Amino acid sequence: MVEHYPFELQPLPYLYDALEPNIDMETMYFHHAKHLRTYIDKLNETLAPYPQYHAWTLERLLLHLNELPGEIREDVRKNAGGVYNHKLYFESLTPVPRELDGALRDAIFLNFGNYNSFQKTFSEMALSLFGSGNLWLVSDNRGKLAILPLSNQDTPLAIELYPLLNLDLWEHAYYLKHQNRRADYIANWFPLVNWEEIGRRYQEALIANALQNMP
Ligand code: MN
Repeated sequence: MVEHYPFELQPLPYLYDALEPNIDMETMYFHHAKHLRTYIDKLNETLAPYPQYHAWTLERLLLHLNELPGEIREDVRKNAGGVYNHKLYFESLTPVPRELDGALRDAIFLNFGNYNSFQKTFSEMALSLFGSGNLWLVSDNRGKLAILPLSNQDTPLAIELYPLLNLDLWEHAYYLKHQNRRADYIANWFPLVNWEEIGRRYQEALIANALQNMP
């Protein structure tokens, strides 16, 4: 389904308590029904007086921020980014473990040596990301992987990298359960990653001009 204005809060692909005990129900509920909803409402408010952008998808808005009028560019960057990043974050998780395999497994082994050293590097970078933001696994248009910290609700799309996986490191993603213990959140998040879905995104990234062809 191609989404555009007015954006709507889509249900999660699993129940709020489905990721227990790794991520608790209360955190999932506030994160989805309150935090994500706020980004959606603010994005719709921002775009309401600009019908010329009502057919634009999130991806198009984020890939072409510089084409938007100056007076709404920052609000779209923050709020379309917030909607896009949360959508990706929630869709990256699953209560049913999915194995890493195929082309993405090969690329992770090529770039990081093996899965454990990838997880170690990713965890260390997540722990050291300063302030609020997301840690990303991204691909360039030739399939080369990188781990990339981005602040606030910035997205790899804005710098022409293809987003594969993001770990939300805003305190709202873990504070209710883990308070300041970000390391515990990271360790509990890893087993929930839906590698089947991330592998599917990697296949998309490998298609020539994947970013330009986004809906
Ligand atoms: Mn969040």
